[in-house]
Formats: sequence, C-alpha cells, structure tokens
Amino acid sequence: MTPEDRRAELAESLEAVRERLAKACQAAGRSPDEVELLAVTKTFPASDVALLSDLGLSAFAENREQEARGKVAEFAELRPVAASRWHMVGQLQRNKARAVARWADVVESVDSDRLAEALARATASALDAGEREHPLDVLVQVSLDGTTGRGGCAPEDVPQLAETITRTSDLRLRGVMAVAPLGGDVDVAFSTLSSISERLRVDHPEAVDVSAGMSGDLESAVAHGSTRVRVGTALLGGRRLTSP
Ligand SMILES: *Cc1c(COP(=O)(O)O)cnc(C)c1O
Repeated sequence: MTPEDRRAELAESLEAVRERLAKACQAAGRSPDEVELLAVTKTFPASDVALLSDLGLSAFAENREQEARGKVAEFAELRPVAASRWHMVGQLQRNKARAVARWADVVESVDSDRLAEALARATASALDAGEREHPLDVLVQVSLDGTTGRGGCAPEDVPQLAETITRTSDLRLRGVMAVAPLGGDVDVAFSTLSSISERLRVDHPEAVDVSAGMSGDLESAVAHGSTRVRVGTALLGGRRLTSP
C-alpha cells in the first residue's frame, strides 16, 4: 500500500471513529470535547503515527516498553515539530520503570504501590538526567473482573494506591483506567468504574480522568462518563496476534 493510500484509509477510519464518538456523546448529553481520543498504535509502524499526527491526532498509546521506545524516537525523526503525548497502557514490570520514564508522558497502568514507587524514583532520575521535563502523569488501573491477572488493582485498593502516588513529588495522579472484563457486562463494568472515580475525587479532586472504552465498547464507556477512549483496531485495522 502506498503512503497516500494508507493516509486515505486512516482518514476514513478516523472520521468514522469521530462520528461514533459524536453520536455517543450526543446520546449521553455530553459535549464531544469532554472525551479525548487516544490512538493505540501498538504493533503498527511509526509511519502510521506520523500519518495520524498529520490528520490531527496528538495522543498515542503503546503497551510494550521496548516497542514504544523505538517508535517514539522514530516518530520524533519523522515529525520533529509535531506535538505528541505518549501513554503507556500495558502491564509494566518495575524493572522497566526507568526506561518508560524516558519517553512516557502518562502511565495509565499503575496498579501497585511498588510500581508507583519505582516510577517515582525513575521519573526523579530522568528529570535529574535531563531526559524529561515534567513530572509523570499517572492513572490507577482498576481491575473490574475480580482478578488481577490482566493488570489492575482491586477496587478496594484504589484509595491506598492514590495516597502512595500523591505522596511522591514526581508523579501526578490524574484518575483511573480500566479495561472491560472479557465476556462481562460492559455497562455494569463502566458504571462501577464511574463510582470508583467519583469516590476517588472526594479525596483527590484533581484526579478527573476516566480512561475507558476501546474499539468495541466506546459507546458504553462514554455513556458512563469516560473522558478518554483508547482506540486501536477501529482506527488502524486488525493487529496480527503477538505472543500472549
Ligand atoms: C490494545 C489496547 C486498546 C485498544 O484496543 P482496540 O480494541 O484495538 O481498540 C485499549 N486499551 C488497552 C489497555 C490496550 O492494550
């Protein structure tokens, strides 16, 4: 496929996603500017990120540190003056914290005190070394399926983790993130997340972000107050399966 063809394809899918978002917002009585569109570019090349940037997007997400690191650097070469914000949305091991702190603007998958502490230390070193300019924005990932196998902390652990994050000076607590449980009722899941967010904001009024909704369930997420949908397939097409 030529770059022109790919650009046309991405323009078309972007328009379709924006239309779905507009409809979902209208149905929920919300303004479309209340919901940010985050393009999940995992498995797709930096050239696609460049085209999405040309089409007006500036928020991109990845789920693997090593893949992201290379892509962020390549994108910076392809579009040196374009604005971009990079979100880490995948499960993260503590030993990758230092690497992530070099490129991520936001880590959405913080689910333990130990990971939060590792990210705080990593961000402090990256700031000291001149590898980043700002504190790291983080979201608490909440598991909504009663297990923590796919990442996320238990809902009852959110307040404690929020305290740990706000005690550090290098992390900024921005809100919550969740993935709807496989095979579960997405409306129930997103409504639970909405209550968790509401409770969190009592003690942390600045933590207003609710990152919820993907290609298959963004309408439900928007109906339940999502402020950021993370869309991969519906924008970029099907991903080849990678290792589990
Ligand atoms: C891959 C991924 C997405 C995007 O999923 P799609 O169904 O392709 O839109 C969203 N959130 C997370 C955490 C992901 O890993």
